[in-house]
Amino acid sequence: MKFNTSLLHTTKPESDKFGATQTPVYQVSAFAYDSAEQLEKVFNNRAAGFSYSRVGNPTVDAFEKRVAALEGGIGAVACASGMAAITSVLLSILGAGDEIIVGAGLFGGTIDLFNDLKAFGITARFTDTVTAQSVGELINEKTKAVFTEVIGNPKLNAVDLDSVSKVCHENGIPLIADSTTATPYIIRPLEHGADIVIHSSSKYINGGGNSISGIIVDGGSFRWNKEKYKGFKSYAKYGPFALLSKLRSDVWRNTGGCLSPFNAFMNCVGIETLGLRMERCCSNAMKLAEFFEQYNGIEVNYPALPSSPYYELIQEKFGGKGGAIITIRAGSRERAFRLINNLKFALIATNIGDVRTLVIHPASTIYTHSSDEEKINAGVYDDTIRISVGIEDIDDLIEDFRQAAESI
Ligand SMILES: *Cc1c(COP(=O)(O)O)cnc(C)c1O
Repeated sequence: MKFNTSLLHTTKPESDKFGATQTPVYQVSAFAYDSAEQLEKVFNNRAAGFSYSRVGNPTVDAFEKRVAALEGGIGAVACASGMAAITSVLLSILGAGDEIIVGAGLFGGTIDLFNDLKAFGITARFTDTVTAQSVGELINEKTKAVFTEVIGNPKLNAVDLDSVSKVCHENGIPLIADSTTATPYIIRPLEHGADIVIHSSSKYINGGGNSISGIIVDGGSFRWNKEKYKGFKSYAKYGPFALLSKLRSDVWRNTGGCLSPFNAFMNCVGIETLGLRMERCCSNAMKLAEFFEQYNGIEVNYPALPSSPYYELIQEKFGGKGGAIITIRAGSRERAFRLINNLKFALIATNIGDVRTLVIHPASTIYTHSSDEEKINAGVYDDTIRISVGIEDIDDLIEDFRQAAESI
């Protein structure tokens, strides 16, 4: 099956007595059984079924299966938000005294989380370029994982996962890839050596900006050595399913960052048009980036432009597609604000992956807690505007940005 067909037909909804074409919203907290014995079996994973929606729910399960299939993983765990997904994965793998290597071109909230984790004895070592060499140089005996965004938001640095994962595996550590901005429409990180894929499914997977959610997909490729990963002591025996079992049984389950059935349903609806939306968003982003490249006094950053340092990698591994985000530099903070305020269609909002075009000034918002160094490493300058390109007609979008740019 090709991409758009697979979005609709890879997994089937649970059989439903009315023949529902989507798994319905099972908006319940608990599931009742005929006997204490049967509930005991379900509770102890000796029979299939659901007991309590924090741990599992049919609508959430349908969403997990769809994303797992789309990414080519062996299973997935859905979370209340992208941040909940990242937190659950990190706390399942890392403990006090451990280090993780992190690509610095990173979403602001994730940078803040790594700062929070210092209090628990977990150290993040940031690298401003994510290459086999820069990662390899930072690995030591305390390193337990490498975390990178596949296309950094908003730095828009594309990462060669094949070579980075190779150096991870040579050192016996997993590669965790946040593929929120790339989406499986552009690249399937597990096929390029990543072991675990994370999405803020609040973004492109949902597509309509109507539900916060996140998801962890496990490729099942990493073998957890229980001497090195002490938390896997009682899970290593599950082989490829060790991480998924651990998530379901401890940190994810007990921190309680589960996804609501209703939000899972909204995502199941949204994901069906992922291919159509991404095709349009990527094409719009390319045309808008080309417009800005011709425009005097504004600098543009988009990884699929031939002027980008990531152009070749994008052609080689990302099917030539640069995603739906572009950043521009307006020359000063004042000019950036004026440009933003003069837009007619684009909304001033802190989100990406909506069908509407959204703009934000990252330095004064998402990165307001970051140091100057963190901002520069993340590609955020005082005059940077991030544009999350939507599905509007491109002529209208270009016209809107042209008149706003002319006003400065
Ligand atoms: C938005 C985002 C997150 C956080 O996701 P939430 O759903 O907002 O918690 C993580 N990573 C990236 C790349 C994001 O864009």
